[in-house]
Amino acid sequence: MSNESLANLLKEERRFAPPAGLAAEANVTAEAYERAKADRLGFWAEQARRLSWETEPTETLDWSNPPFAKWFADGRLNVAYNCVDRHVENGLGDRVAIHFEGEPGDTRSITYAELQREVSKAANALIELGVQAGDRVAIYLPMIPEAVVSMLACARIGAPHSLVFGGFSADALATRIKDADARVVITADGGYRRGKPSALKPAVDEALTRPGTENVRSVLVVRRTGQEDIAWSEGRDVWWHDLVEAQSDQHTPQAFDAEHPLFILYTSGTTGKPKGILHTTGGYLTQISYTHHAVFDLKPETDVFWCTADVGWVTGHSYIVYGPLSNGATEVLYEGTPDSPHQGRWWEIVQKYGVTILYTAPTAIRAAMKWGDDIPAKFDLSSLRILGSVGEPINPEAWVWYRKHIGADRTPVVDTWWQTETGGIMISPLPGVTETKPGSAQVPLPGIAATVVDDDAREVANGSGGYLVLTEPWPSMLRTIWGDDQRYLDTYWSRFEHKYFAGDGAKKDDDGDIWLLGRVDDVMLVSGHNISTTEVESALVSHPKVAEAAVVGATDPQTTQAICAFVILRGDADAHEEGLVEELRAHVGKQLGPIAKPKRILPVAELPKTRSGKIMRRLLRDVAENRTLGDVTTLTDSSVMTLIQSQLPTAS
Ligand code: ATP
Ligand code: MG
Repeated sequence: MSNESLANLLKEERRFAPPAGLAAEANVTAEAYERAKADRLGFWAEQARRLSWETEPTETLDWSNPPFAKWFADGRLNVAYNCVDRHVENGLGDRVAIHFEGEPGDTRSITYAELQREVSKAANALIELGVQAGDRVAIYLPMIPEAVVSMLACARIGAPHSLVFGGFSADALATRIKDADARVVITADGGYRRGKPSALKPAVDEALTRPGTENVRSVLVVRRTGQEDIAWSEGRDVWWHDLVEAQSDQHTPQAFDAEHPLFILYTSGTTGKPKGILHTTGGYLTQISYTHHAVFDLKPETDVFWCTADVGWVTGHSYIVYGPLSNGATEVLYEGTPDSPHQGRWWEIVQKYGVTILYTAPTAIRAAMKWGDDIPAKFDLSSLRILGSVGEPINPEAWVWYRKHIGADRTPVVDTWWQTETGGIMISPLPGVTETKPGSAQVPLPGIAATVVDDDAREVANGSGGYLVLTEPWPSMLRTIWGDDQRYLDTYWSRFEHKYFAGDGAKKDDDGDIWLLGRVDDVMLVSGHNISTTEVESALVSHPKVAEAAVVGATDPQTTQAICAFVILRGDADAHEEGLVEELRAHVGKQLGPIAKPKRILPVAELPKTRSGKIMRRLLRDVAENRTLGDVTTLTDSSVMTLIQSQLPTAS
């Protein structure tokens, strides 16, 4: 990337000040930045005291063998105790921890006291299955309370969990079981997706026929859908309702070292083969608990928090399980899809539970935009006070729509940048402090050091773009890639000396605020200019007929790469309308300049996305360049690619 790279193309002038009431009562104020700047490690040591330690740490960071970090290394604690038992001991046993909403409409509210009993029983069951501290447990479940209970039960006995998204195939599951060398798999007969039961157990049975999965001794099966023709392997398979329900609901948690492994989680695979990211105990929980308190301004007595992510990806780990529960929050857990049985289902849930804080992904916001403003307008969303976004850069137009149509033009929107590798939120506005800018994650959180550098690792000036890097270790950082220290070094620490390379392009605006510009691999080179896919996509989405856009650079003999855009139109727009493509090209030209005009624009019905909702541009690049498709195993729906290929004009 050259230095004039990612020039400041997009101009976004809209600003939103924090609501006065929220600012006056905010959990975290501007002073936190100063405090953390003056003494970063002291700041994190102070945040570690949010937790209950069996042995308080005296050390904060051991960075004697970089980039292998140890945080709070001489401290000892139990994560499940911190997320459950201590709240019960503090008299909060009757507080609802989880309002579960099943897709078919079944519901269950679980208090902290009940959660303590459930987690204890599940921990006892795992012990009966022979699981010991350090053994890996694979979890392949729908979004049901047992998923949360299983994770906490593993944490309670020191068995690192490895969640595999319930929508993944037997192949993807087998690869992950093998890589983590799991000993037990926890699954269900099935779950509900789009109004129908969808089986899970057959994928486990198939995965366990693959070489490398032989060490799995037991499969613990939750009955969720009650399908009858379920295959059973005697001696290996055991029903949750037989084994777990028979256990004592008492279990005394034992403390583990702060650096004891808590979980392995595979990245979403947007850029290639997924990486098994290893997270440990004390530093992880410290940062997750702090960021959940700070970024969402959580008031556990009155807030109802809802993170719509799946527990099978990192947002679910950190902001459904470990953040909210360590903070004693009340939260919603929803099993299904946003449009089952109708496109207002989410807004109905917000209204029903009085959700005050909603955390979701740009893909969901763009889908809601596409379905139309009138749908959320039918529901009472007045309980909402903070909205969050994560997973991809959020197009300014989607940000503004979210604030206006979901947040009544009243709620702050926090755009949170982070990764599986960072464990928790790293760059984000603070809702009571930051004047927000649509489309920008803006500032590193207190205690976090992030910046943008050029090819030579020099920090870029305001108004310029380059690579996002993290310049100091942080408590919830990954410790390595499971079983592959070399890949850890190569992927993150070799591009720039002493700096963590995030793999994302970014720019600093004139105020020094950070804007994410998409994956470094996705940046396009057009006639000597680096152009960010994100900016062209945002320009397209700012056109009233476009709901969603994915842009890639395809090899081109004249211009090195040519911009090729795939667009999904809003509900009432017509893909065959004459002059539409020209109108969109002209619109991008006006927004960003002639250089950024796409050479080709193709209206499509769907875009290829990972299970975590991210657009997989590398596959679209394969299409645009007429190549055979790369790895599609982490796609939500691989038929989307066939559909797109069939819609392509044969020559351009
Ligand atoms: P892989 O590393 O296997 O390709 P992945 O990067 O998609 O998978 P995740 O760790 O789930 O897997 O995603 C992290 C990435 O998501 C970030 O590196 C960034 O590209 C993107 N991202 C997340 N939040 C934001 C945000 N608020 N703004 C811009 N980009 C974001
Ligand atoms: Mg990544």
